[in-house]
Amino acid sequence: MLEISELGLVEMTRKRVRQDLRALLSAPCPTCKGSGVTKSDATLATEIFRVVRAKVRSAEDANGRDVVVRVHPDLARYFEGDGQEALERLTRALERKITIQPNHADREGYEVKLRGGAPQ
Ligand SMILES: [Zn+2]
Repeated sequence: MLEISELGLVEMTRKRVRQDLRALLSAPCPTCKGSGVTKSDATLATEIFRVVRAKVRSAEDANGRDVVVRVHPDLARYFEGDGQEALERLTRALERKITIQPNHADREGYEVKLRGGAPQ
């Protein structure tokens, strides 16, 4: 009985040391913010398409402007694979050239800009 309770105490102490050490040696994950899950490529693509459509619509008078989308390299790869068809559909629907730039640092971050043509 005594041995078991001592063992339990030792285990608890070890666990706390491990947790303290972990906190000392780690930083919160900037991508999932500690939740352990991140947005899927498809979810991010849907979000980005919504922003692109809104941006093009709001600049309707500025004809002939291309769309430049900065994304994380992982997402850029998605647009060359599974997401390519959806991207092509959007390109046709908007009649704009959409350029994907794989240079955003955050996996869930992106930036949508209009380029060329008349200034905004
Ligand atoms: Zn994470």
